[in-house]
Amino acid sequence: MQKRKLVIIGSGPAGYTAAIYAARANLEPLLYEGFFSGPAGGQLMTTTDVENYPGFPEGIMGPELMLLCRKQAERFGTEVLTEDVTTVDLSYRPFKVVGSKTEVEAEALIIATGATANRLDVEGTRDGEFWQKGVTACAICDGAAPIFRDKELYVIGGGDSACEEAIFLTKFGSKVFLVHRRDQLRASKIMAERAMKHPKIEVLWNHVLEKVEGDDIVRSVTLKNAQSAQTQKRDASGVFFAIGFNPNTDFLDGQLELKENKYLKVTPGSTTTSVEGVFAAGDVHDHIYRQAVSAAGDGCMAALDAERWLSAQGLID
Ligand SMILES: Cc1cc2nc3c(=O)[nH]c(=O)nc-3n(C[C@H](O)[C@H](O)[C@H](O)COP(=O)(O)OP(=O)(O)OC[C@H]3O[C@@H](n4cnc5c(N)ncnc54)[C@H](O)[C@@H]3O)c2cc1C
Repeated sequence: MQKRKLVIIGSGPAGYTAAIYAARANLEPLLYEGFFSGPAGGQLMTTTDVENYPGFPEGIMGPELMLLCRKQAERFGTEVLTEDVTTVDLSYRPFKVVGSKTEVEAEALIIATGATANRLDVEGTRDGEFWQKGVTACAICDGAAPIFRDKELYVIGGGDSACEEAIFLTKFGSKVFLVHRRDQLRASKIMAERAMKHPKIEVLWNHVLEKVEGDDIVRSVTLKNAQSAQTQKRDASGVFFAIGFNPNTDFLDGQLELKENKYLKVTPGSTTTSVEGVFAAGDVHDHIYRQAVSAAGDGCMAALDAERWLSAQGLID
């Protein structure tokens, strides 16, 4: 079986940045970019303009940014495998990493498998319909786009992130509707009160999203009253899903300690996990910031942590 100093799992900003740093430190990393697990390149492959990643004053398309990251990682000698990691065995070292086609041993491991934004399967919101043409799952990333300025926006959800995203969107939209299927928000009292008191936010209780329509971009939503079953078509320019994220940790099969919300647990201020020699970077552990630049920063930290750990073990010069 092939043995590697460092294996990186995941190909978003965290995984590629870890690869760039590790490759430049001569760790000859092997990176599993995924296949069925999600788009290789991560969440930014599902978006259009990225306007908040430093270095691109005019913005850059998400897929283009990720292609550049991949090229930069490969330039310094990262080997990229287009495969999912199906299982790992962290009970002994070197760790065993099993992909859909390959098996390798790894002295150190960086988990950068990200998270998947939950979306509802509603007509008009899917890929190829109005996804990224007014429908998105990240208000902080996309809220400032011109198509949302001074327009009526709809946030779908009822938890803390839905309230937070609705409040954030009041900076841009003329009015923000929070669509919630129940008669009470799930959010903490303080967040719910802030949202409900905001003059630009109106909560539409007991409503669900039925359909999104438009031309080039979103123009309307159809909502259904969950109690009366009555439907209503309303003008809309933006639909923001705020119904949570799923960290991609299932393949770890409980071998690393998780937080209550299933995100990976790391030692604060570092990327070390509950197993020595295994590091975590990006959205797979960070449920707070969830941004490309913070994931990239984390990838850098994970590579440096891994390099120092390998060196302390005498596994590299
Ligand atoms: C619609 C949308 C728009 C966004 N826009 C912006 C923006 O404008 N600016 C910004 O800063 N942030 C934006 N974000 C957030 C940003 O995309 C994420 O914070 C960032 O991509 C997280 O990077 P990551 O490397 O941690 O994980 P991810 O980008 O989630 O990448 C993880 C990778 O790991 C792979 N993977 C998962 N499991 C396995 C496995 N078992 N084996 C192999 N590979 C695996 C996945 O396929 C994926 O490629 C947006 C997010 C969304 C959903």
